Amino acid sequence: MDADVIIIGSGAGGGTIARALADSGLNILILERGDYLPREWGNWDPRTVFAEHRYHTHEQWRDQHGKFFSPITGYHVGGNTKFYGAAVLRRRESDFLIRHHKDGNTRAWPICYADLAPFYDQAEAWYFTHGQAGTDPTDPPRGDYPFPPFSHEEDVALVDTALRGMGLHPFPLPLAIHRLDDDPEHSPCVRCPTCDGFPCMLHAKGDAEVCGIRPALEYSNVRLLTKHRVRRLISSADGKRVETVETDQGCFSARLVVLAAGAVNSAALLLASASEQFPTGLANHSDQVGRHYMCHLNSACMALKPGRENRTIFQKTLALNDFYEDSGDPEYPYPLGHIQSLGKVTPGLFHAEQPHLPIPATAWAASHSVDWWLTTEDLPDPTNRVTLDEDGTIRLTWNPKNRESHQRLCHKWRELLKRFGFFGVFFQAMDISATAHQVGTCRFGEDPSESVLDPFCKAHDLENLYVVDASFMPSISAVNPSLTIIANALRVGSHIRRQIKSA
Ligand SMILES: Cc1cc2nc3c(=O)[nH]c(=O)nc-3n(C[C@H](O)[C@H](O)[C@H](O)COP(=O)(O)OP(=O)(O)OC[C@H]3O[C@@H](n4cnc5c(N)ncnc54)[C@H](O)[C@@H]3O)c2cc1C
Ligand code: SF4
Repeated sequence: MDADVIIIGSGAGGGTIARALADSGLNILILERGDYLPREWGNWDPRTVFAEHRYHTHEQWRDQHGKFFSPITGYHVGGNTKFYGAAVLRRRESDFLIRHHKDGNTRAWPICYADLAPFYDQAEAWYFTHGQAGTDPTDPPRGDYPFPPFSHEEDVALVDTALRGMGLHPFPLPLAIHRLDDDPEHSPCVRCPTCDGFPCMLHAKGDAEVCGIRPALEYSNVRLLTKHRVRRLISSADGKRVETVETDQGCFSARLVVLAAGAVNSAALLLASASEQFPTGLANHSDQVGRHYMCHLNSACMALKPGRENRTIFQKTLALNDFYEDSGDPEYPYPLGHIQSLGKVTPGLFHAEQPHLPIPATAWAASHSVDWWLTTEDLPDPTNRVTLDEDGTIRLTWNPKNRESHQRLCHKWRELLKRFGFFGVFFQAMDISATAHQVGTCRFGEDPSESVLDPFCKAHDLENLYVVDASFMPSISAVNPSLTIIANALRVGSHIRRQIKSA
């Protein structure tokens, strides 16, 4: 045995469970396919990040028609949290239950909010979470946040006041950023405009490298091997255990294997590990591995006000859930989704994203816009799935549900913004390449014929394989996924500790 526990992947799920197990005395080996993300000026340069894609994978995946696309994802220590906007919301209590949408229903989780609540508390503490309890009417029961909310800059505060004037309930967006608001002099975070989608050059963002991997590596029983891509998991002859973890640098073995390679890559790895005992893929007796891929329906929005330059630097501070549970329209009694402000779209960022548009026009628009991110819940569908082509390329089939609800959310937001002076409100919908919020490909549940993992995220088919990344989710909700991945990894970590103690 090379370790007691091998963790595959060092992102939100893997990085967190590594820290959760670090003080157990167990011998832990983390295998990460990427390297540390280099700390350099390019971290904050829109051209480097969004035009040259220096930190995104150059891998190509295929869509359902066989067309290649470049997924916006990266392989580094810390996983995709290196780029995340650090918006960390808990799921609503209703997100754990069946919810009726225009295009169908979500699936109830095998656990409820109360089961996850203590782990949400711990997740928020570990990831420096700032917010204000009691301001979002859809929030589940909770105590105070570890840190006070980020303040709004002037143009965001104006929107906040205008929304309140209309009887709506905007609230400070919970953020996982290491900022000491009462002591800005010594704050590691400088509230820069290059946070959402960018790595943090100051390591001030609460990402999985800073809040998971680094604290875990302070323990001598935890090791990290970077540039070790896991290619296959090989099961024992009786098909009951994972015996060997095969990487491109050699093979490793452990008593327990925790897979946390991200929803798409974890499913792809299990499918690539097909064998005589598991002809359709490891842990796939249910034929559920890779199915029910979900991703948010997301649109970025730029709202322009004539004659008013938006001088906001750190814009991602406001959110709205007034249309989360239903649209407010009796003729369309369905949820629409969640709205949050976006990191400021700067002239440099807009040009990097839209190089074909004339520079003066993009520069003017970016300096006059307030920018938003709109999210609608996708639904589980077994035909939306990850598969592997014969050449090993990942194929992603995705036809999102609830398109009408998303259009209605965008329309509602446009009408509201127009009422307080934004004359031009433009949306850009994200396509299949925007895989940031990928979930659902190894869902957990009680019934082994309908789920890949049991309620503690152990594979139904194997004694020693756990999966703790975004793939465990049977429904996606309309809030950002990371805090739930982190809280669930803490829950599974605590279960593993109990199991090992009693063994
Ligand atoms: C631009 C952007 C903005 C985002 N903003 C937000 C936000 O504001 N709030 C939020 O909640 N979420 C946000 N997200 C989503 C969030 O980052 C993900 O939900 C989260 O990181 C997923 O966690 P995970 O553990 O499932 O996977 P990841 O964090 O992606 O970690 C997977 C890890 O596994 C490694 N790996 C993959 N394959 C292998 C292999 N074969 N062998 C070894 N290692 C492997 C990867 O390199 C990676 O380190 C954002 C994402 C992006 C890209
Ligand atoms: S806003 Fe703060 S946490 Fe975000 S990238 Fe800038 S310095 Fe880092």
